[in-house]
Amino acid sequence: MTKEVRTRFAPSPTGDLHVGGARTALFNWLFTRNQGGDYILRIEDTDFNRSADQYTEQIKSALDWLGLNWDEGPDVGGPHEPYHQSQRLDRYKEVADELMKRGVVYPCYCTAEELEAERERQRARREPPRYSGRCRNLSEAEKEKFEAEGRDYAYRYRIPEKPATVKDIAKGEVSFPPDQVGDFIVIKSNGSPAYNFAVVVDDHDMGITHVVRGDDHLSNTPRQIYLYEEMGWQPPKWCHLAMILGSDGERLSKRHGATDVEEYREKGFLPEAMVNALALLGWSPPDGVEVKDVDELIEAFSLERVNKSASRFDFDKVRYLNGQHLRALPATEICERLEDFLPESLTKNDRENLPEIVELLREQLELLTDFAPLYETYFVDFSPEPSAVKWLAEQDGALEVVTVLKKHVEAAQSFSLADVESLIKAAGDELEQSGADLYKPMRVAVTGQLEGPEFHRLMVPLGRQRCLDRIETVLQAVEDLN
Ligand code: GLU
Repeated sequence: MTKEVRTRFAPSPTGDLHVGGARTALFNWLFTRNQGGDYILRIEDTDFNRSADQYTEQIKSALDWLGLNWDEGPDVGGPHEPYHQSQRLDRYKEVADELMKRGVVYPCYCTAEELEAERERQRARREPPRYSGRCRNLSEAEKEKFEAEGRDYAYRYRIPEKPATVKDIAKGEVSFPPDQVGDFIVIKSNGSPAYNFAVVVDDHDMGITHVVRGDDHLSNTPRQIYLYEEMGWQPPKWCHLAMILGSDGERLSKRHGATDVEEYREKGFLPEAMVNALALLGWSPPDGVEVKDVDELIEAFSLERVNKSASRFDFDKVRYLNGQHLRALPATEICERLEDFLPESLTKNDRENLPEIVELLREQLELLTDFAPLYETYFVDFSPEPSAVKWLAEQDGALEVVTVLKKHVEAAQSFSLADVESLIKAAGDELEQSGADLYKPMRVAVTGQLEGPEFHRLMVPLGRQRCLDRIETVLQAVEDLN
């Protein structure tokens, strides 16, 4: 029997959740939901100087917004509590003691400056940065001397003299010779566990079967493999996701536009559109259909279709996807999503008629933030366009249409869509007009524009009085021309 899939998203709370982190979270989540396993959220907060609770909260809230719920982790608990690394220090100490007992770690007294100088030399020689092993074979006397100098020390793992091979689902087999890896720190000089060590202990303890993460960690993976082998633990399967680039082919950064998930929420993007856009960053659906809701993504997702090479984040495409998802929603649902995006100018009456107004404007909506300016254009600021007024003044019979429309609007007892349709028809019958000759002057009278949304539909939420006011304004504007 194959083991149940268990994945994790393991952010370090040192900043807001950005597009890259969200993509990693999403790929783990989609894979797990597709496989019917458990998805874990683990907070990697052992870098005490840079971690902050505020970021943990922000990351959780962004994941919530995206709908990426976790089966185990902060707030929901689970069999492997606690899910904050800062609360698991005893366990790291236990494993570190075991490594010390085995004699596979040694104290390293090198200072940050010495290590930096070493890396500098390696860069100059175009070699991969790694620890040279200066403290590997210190005599007791040398250790005592360093300690007398008051130097702090970290513990390094003495790596074996053999290559470590990452069998990666996305990248294939990547082999690292030991001299490219170097002995690495497991316990830092301040006593806290290093990333490569804590991550292995936790992934093992939490029964993680698949590690899906950014390929900036690929060079860490040989170190982690050495630790699994040392401890005799079964390593997970790896899948390293290639970098995300901006439209110019450079690594995605602030310079390209919004990179924090929260910014997208504020700009009026829908979470389902974000999920759709993130899913396409380094994965493609087998049927080639890119616009997908979350259930379709879950159904179609597999790690085997994750790209080996970098993907591009295209802001216009995210907007496009957002428009697709937004317009697919029923008007009542769009109204709920608009809750935080309604303009202050929205009248009480229009608020009650919001679904009709949304229905009218939906084809022009791409983002939730598009609603307010459209509302203002069609419902608040009424200033007829000079070209439309001129057209009305010059077009044969057009003014008469407006006058007759005004009469029928004045006489209207009620103003439902059916009422409006029948008063327009009555005006047409009276004028013996139909088609553009009838509708175009009417459109100008109601919208002040020659083109726009279906004016007879717009008349309903505008209501009788606002329609009359507009007709008056337009007639006055025609008069003012003379
Ligand atoms: N805390 C690490 C990070 O945020 C996690 C890396 C991993 O998934 O192993 O980059």
